[in-house]
Amino acid sequence: MKIKLASKYGFCFGVKRAIKIAESEKNASTIGPLIHNNEEIERLRKHFNVDTLSSISEIDGIKKAIIRTHGIPKEDLATLKTKGIDIIDATCPFVTKPQKICEKMSQEGYDIVIFGDKNHPEVKGVKSYAKEPVYVVLHVEELEKLRLGKKVAVVSQTTRKVEEFMKIVSALVARHKEVRVFNTICNATFENQDATRALSKEADVMVVIGGKNSSNTKQLLNIAKEFCEDSYLIESERELDNKWFIGKKLCGISAGASTPDWIINKVIEKISKIKV
Ligand code: SF4
Repeated sequence: MKIKLASKYGFCFGVKRAIKIAESEKNASTIGPLIHNNEEIERLRKHFNVDTLSSISEIDGIKKAIIRTHGIPKEDLATLKTKGIDIIDATCPFVTKPQKICEKMSQEGYDIVIFGDKNHPEVKGVKSYAKEPVYVVLHVEELEKLRLGKKVAVVSQTTRKVEEFMKIVSALVARHKEVRVFNTICNATFENQDATRALSKEADVMVVIGGKNSSNTKQLLNIAKEFCEDSYLIESERELDNKWFIGKKLCGISAGASTPDWIINKVIEKISKIKV
């Protein structure tokens, strides 16, 4: 059986940067998981003494806090500052951008619309930088219920599809006189998705590696399944099942944006030893 990696996979720029920061800082705490990958979080804890707090309510006693790639709400940042905690900002610059846009545009009197999932930590953080009125929407129909003023500014959660963002933008432009559109979508996840799609069209078994709590990894699995029925999501080589590979000729491998190379290499090594 041949093994082929997707032409784009694994860590994006923001995650690589956050991990480098965590490794160089050492002895620090992150508010929420730094990235969505339990194995990598555990490696950082073990080798660099970087632990994970589940929320801002646990910061008492910590000296150094690393802000994760998704960012944190403005008020949480203020809390860290008032407690005199050393703050290391690993927020991805592609996330900082919509935060700054929301802050500036709402100061200039624009009502803010954020296209995204209101429960996602990135969106909660971005929203906190805007003054009211600020709305988070996922579907065009939700816009009908909003009482937006004449001036509207719209941004997107970084991992959303541009086609969906365009639907929100078109509906806003049709209803309001002045709409400022900021395309804050990050291409990293789409590059991984396109590469997974291409590979799953030729592979007869696909292995997608990544955190089971990572939305971009789950999206990769769904894409792989569209073209290759035998597609599996695993967090580590320990979850591989020899049965998946019986009679297969080409095994495609892809990985989510929070999956480190050392995990991918272990998976490849184990698959290459499987006798089919
Ligand atoms: S997916 Fe994009 S926005 Fe998110 S951390 Fe990676 S580079 Fe940054």
